[in-house]
Amino acid sequence: MSWEPVIGLEVHARLLTQTKIFCGCSTAFGAPPNTHVCPVCLGYPGALPVLNRKAVDLAMRVALATGCEIHPQSVFARKNYFYPDLPKGYQISQFDRPLATNGSVEIGGKTIRIHRIHMEEDAGKLLHDAAVTRVDLNRAGTPLVEIVSEPDIRSSEEAAAYFSRLRQILMFVDACDGNMEEGSLRCDANVSVHRSGEPLGTRTEVKNVNSFRYVARAIEHEIERQISVLESGGAIVQETRLYDPAADETRPMRSKEEAHDYRYFPEPDLLTLEVDEAWVGSVRAVLPPLPSARSKRYQSEWNIPAIDADAIVATRELAEYFEATAEASGQPRLAANWVRNEVLRVLNDRRIDLSDYVVTPEMLAKLIGLVESGAIGGKSAKEVFEEMSTTGDAPALIVERRGLAQISDPSAIRVAAERVLEANRVQAEQYRAGKAQVFGFLVGQLMKETRGKAKADLANEILRELLDRA
Ligand code: ADP
Ligand code: MG
Ligand code: ZN
Repeated sequence: MSWEPVIGLEVHARLLTQTKIFCGCSTAFGAPPNTHVCPVCLGYPGALPVLNRKAVDLAMRVALATGCEIHPQSVFARKNYFYPDLPKGYQISQFDRPLATNGSVEIGGKTIRIHRIHMEEDAGKLLHDAAVTRVDLNRAGTPLVEIVSEPDIRSSEEAAAYFSRLRQILMFVDACDGNMEEGSLRCDANVSVHRSGEPLGTRTEVKNVNSFRYVARAIEHEIERQISVLESGGAIVQETRLYDPAADETRPMRSKEEAHDYRYFPEPDLLTLEVDEAWVGSVRAVLPPLPSARSKRYQSEWNIPAIDADAIVATRELAEYFEATAEASGQPRLAANWVRNEVLRVLNDRRIDLSDYVVTPEMLAKLIGLVESGAIGGKSAKEVFEEMSTTGDAPALIVERRGLAQISDPSAIRVAAERVLEANRVQAEQYRAGKAQVFGFLVGQLMKETRGKAKADLANEILRELLDRA
């Protein structure tokens, strides 16, 4: 029987507050080292923490968005350990009474259960140079949520899908900016293998898997390593391993610490966190719709195919862009096509963010309107779209400047069609004598005569009518 991988992820997400979790220092990323610090986050003796209400709001958003139960009371605890980036000698976290438990996230039809979500503070950062290591405590005290999954994940692909779905949800509810380069979202993977039907195997925890590419690769490697240890008769030791992207391998970092190693105890300087129904209700009230709900609405209300709807809700910005276009144009299905195919392509090709894109939903809606009213043809619309994506000019202006307006006046097309039949009498006779293929040639001549601007269905209809009449 083959080995089955079992994976549980612990994801740390930095909450999007202006200030730190227990003091008023700024959380802005990238400031000169040790400029966003104060006695509280530097761990001076006697300095007292005060909980940032906004951090709790955001943590609750995450809990609600993942279907967790929020506990009316939760308790901050000291997690004691020594490290140079942790001046207090302990991290304020939550231990046996976390903010929320029992949620879930869907990935492609499968449910991954969330065991718990708790709040904690981030540590500082060590900066290693050739000769010295420096410490920057700007990050110390930044609010985090840790989202701990149940061991429900069964492959590296599922792990990456779960991580990316979490990121999407966090960003949709504006709880985290999802910026992995800046460390706003970090992931540790717990990995074990067993024969299915048998008890779970011993797990290792792989640290430092902070990109989607690395999550999958690091886990894949760890699975293979464990299988080969077990197949050669060895045993897996519970330990913490570090993924090294350069060497593309995991290496032992330290033996796995147990909860009792940290001497957790309730933080005496903070009160029990009490969250009443009214507070939860006020957070729920401002929770933006989630990607899954939005996608379902596009499908049921607007008849948009699931595959398009899911692609459009990739980010909240794109979803909102699409919704604005759909509403302004009154043509949700066409709007979906434009956004999914053309807008995404341009953003991709030019490597720009939607926020830097010159075409607003209103402009795109106008373009859709021009096609719908027959003012321009489909091919011209693509041309106008390219140009407006570069210049930011209004579609009507581009249509006029380039002379792309479509001829949808039947009498104008009729005049042109008569000229074409006059100039191509031989072919017209052949058609009338039963050679149907000549029709295509005559349509081509008519399009040439009108420089491609005759409305295609009208051109066909009028030409046929003239040919059949004589
Ligand atoms: P700890 O507090 O020691 O990190 P937890 O019980 O909180 O341990 O589990 C941490 C993570 O490990 C969770 O995401 C959980 O799903 C995962 N996990 C638990 N047991 C296993 C296992 N046998 N194989 C893989 N992952 C596991
Ligand atoms: Mg852990
Ligand atoms: Zn501070």
